[in-house]
Amino acid sequence: MAYDYDTGNIFAKILRGEIPNDTVLETEHSLAFNDIGPQAPVHVLVIPKGPYVNWDHFITGASAEEIADYARAIHAVVGKLGLEPGEGGQGYRLIMNAGEAGVQEVPHLHAHILSGRPLGKLVA
Ligand code: IMP
Repeated sequence: MAYDYDTGNIFAKILRGEIPNDTVLETEHSLAFNDIGPQAPVHVLVIPKGPYVNWDHFITGASAEEIADYARAIHAVVGKLGLEPGEGGQGYRLIMNAGEAGVQEVPHLHAHILSGRPLGKLVA
């Protein structure tokens, strides 16, 4: 599957430094920042720095180093915010929307980390 990456999307602009973001954590290949329209007290987005449209594009196109960095960045945000359920934290929800059915609005891969309130059962 070939994906067309739109370099004009808002997260690409954040990565180029054209618009500001509220950074939570940055690694060599990933960036985490607070969502501008939080759906919960904790709502962080984690994105790879590479030009990947969605998870499927990323997992088939990114290097092993980028993939490992991204997975560890998500874990590092959870740790930094004290959300790890096994560590006495309150836990969290990790979501990636993709395509039309997933109602993905920004066409640059992002994982939502949500926490800080009971999130309810996940239903469509
Ligand atoms: P999606 O529906 O999974 O694509 O989610 C896109 C998310 O990006 C939404 O939760 C928006 O609130 C968030 N968002 C859009 N623009 C910005 C921004 O400039 N900074 C931070 N978050 C943003």
